[in-house]
Amino acid sequence: MSVRVRFAPSPTGFMHVGNARTALFNYLFARHHGGKFVLRIEDTDVERHNEEAVKVIYEALRWMGLNWDEGPDVGGPYGPYRQSERLDIYREFIDKLKEKGLVYECFCTQEELDRMRKEQLERGEPPRYTGKCRNLTEEEKERLRAEGRKPVLRFKVPEDRVVKFNDLIKGEIEINSRQLGGDFVIVRSNGMPVYNFVVVVDDALMKITHVIRGEDHISNTPKQILLYEALGFEPPQFAHLPMILGPDRSKLSKRHGSTSVREFKEKGYLPEAFVNFLALLGWYPKDGKEILSMDELIEKFDIKEVNSAPAVFDTTKLNWMNQVYIRNYPIDKLTDLIIPYLEKAGFDLSQFDREWLEKVVEVTREYFTVLSDAPTYMEVFLKDDFEVEPQAKELISEDPNRLKVIELFLEKLENLEGELSSDSFKRLVKEVGKELGVKGKNLFMPIRIGLTGRMSGVELPVLVELLGKERVLRRLKNSLSKIK
Ligand code: GLU
Repeated sequence: MSVRVRFAPSPTGFMHVGNARTALFNYLFARHHGGKFVLRIEDTDVERHNEEAVKVIYEALRWMGLNWDEGPDVGGPYGPYRQSERLDIYREFIDKLKEKGLVYECFCTQEELDRMRKEQLERGEPPRYTGKCRNLTEEEKERLRAEGRKPVLRFKVPEDRVVKFNDLIKGEIEINSRQLGGDFVIVRSNGMPVYNFVVVVDDALMKITHVIRGEDHISNTPKQILLYEALGFEPPQFAHLPMILGPDRSKLSKRHGSTSVREFKEKGYLPEAFVNFLALLGWYPKDGKEILSMDELIEKFDIKEVNSAPAVFDTTKLNWMNQVYIRNYPIDKLTDLIIPYLEKAGFDLSQFDREWLEKVVEVTREYFTVLSDAPTYMEVFLKDDFEVEPQAKELISEDPNRLKVIELFLEKLENLEGELSSDSFKRLVKEVGKELGVKGKNLFMPIRIGLTGRMSGVELPVLVELLGKERVLRRLKNSLSKIK
């Protein structure tokens, strides 16, 4: 039987990293086994027809490079792939359960349910639906309907049954049906079927072989297994992925910083680094290699090796990985990704040619952690009429020789025959030092300040070679006018 897995997000307008990791593990599993990766939009619980929220899902998956074989946009043999378009299908299976006498209408109001719960808790019992409406007569139902009550549909949970499944990650799991909270709702009073029911119908009809999802769903699985049985379907294999925790070991949330895929994208994490990082949240390849391309992840990924203990989201590690990827990324692709950040920071890039810009990216990228750092480190190459830092001004004013260094260097540069290279630059600096009798910091710092307005930064020979003589002259004059 060939592998078929699905990623089944609700369109909430937000793709949490936990969901992104679930999608990735499903994708890796499918690709590793040469199977199919299905995208299904679960929109019976949320406001329907929310196109924007569905786009957020597409955008996140595409950015991560997780292409799906079947889904709402690409179709497939078991569509439609949006639950809101499958309501007729669900109705058919609800009718089946009705015919078998496995469901019943429940008219209890929220107040009644709350009271039931409160009394159970007071008696020290676990809260559960008591089955109060299980045996209503037709007359009683009529009377309740006449009161204007709208019933929900509950599934009759068999008494005292042991539900067992072998989770590929968590191992053997067993639960008594008495612990499931009583007969559970499968259709709401507004007629909308509920997640636990539709997920079973869909996974069965879509011939899903493995359900790989977050551990937060583990308590739903026994209920779903009972529904598989009731509907006469064979249950799939289950694999529940460990939770993702923040560094303080509480569930990862906004308190810990960014949690949505879009935020990571916007900060300037490379999709390859992000994917690589997520893959190691709960899984680790046997050989211990950490930097892995998508192809390597697909080749090495083994669901049975996924750790059952929670995974900690370590931003320091993500940052380290992103740096590794930035340093090794093809320069043209990296430049394409950086340009929007520079434009957003207000740089007019029309005055620079592409080849030159790529060279600047080449010499600065080792300083970036995320792409949004690029403007900070590239500014020194892009802006000639910079301000001189107050500390730098002070340093120059402390010793008259320091100003002379800048002035003499300017004079020598004006008289330089030919282009300014890193070699000719070094030669000129040496001459200035000799003539004024200064060396070391007293020589290099004023030159740095003259060229950049700052006291630290990139290597000057690299900088001047990329700037060329005209721009260096402009900069020296700019600094002098601002220091004096
Ligand atoms: N729509 C559910 C969610 O987003 C899917 C759970 C499942 O994979 O069964 O959590």
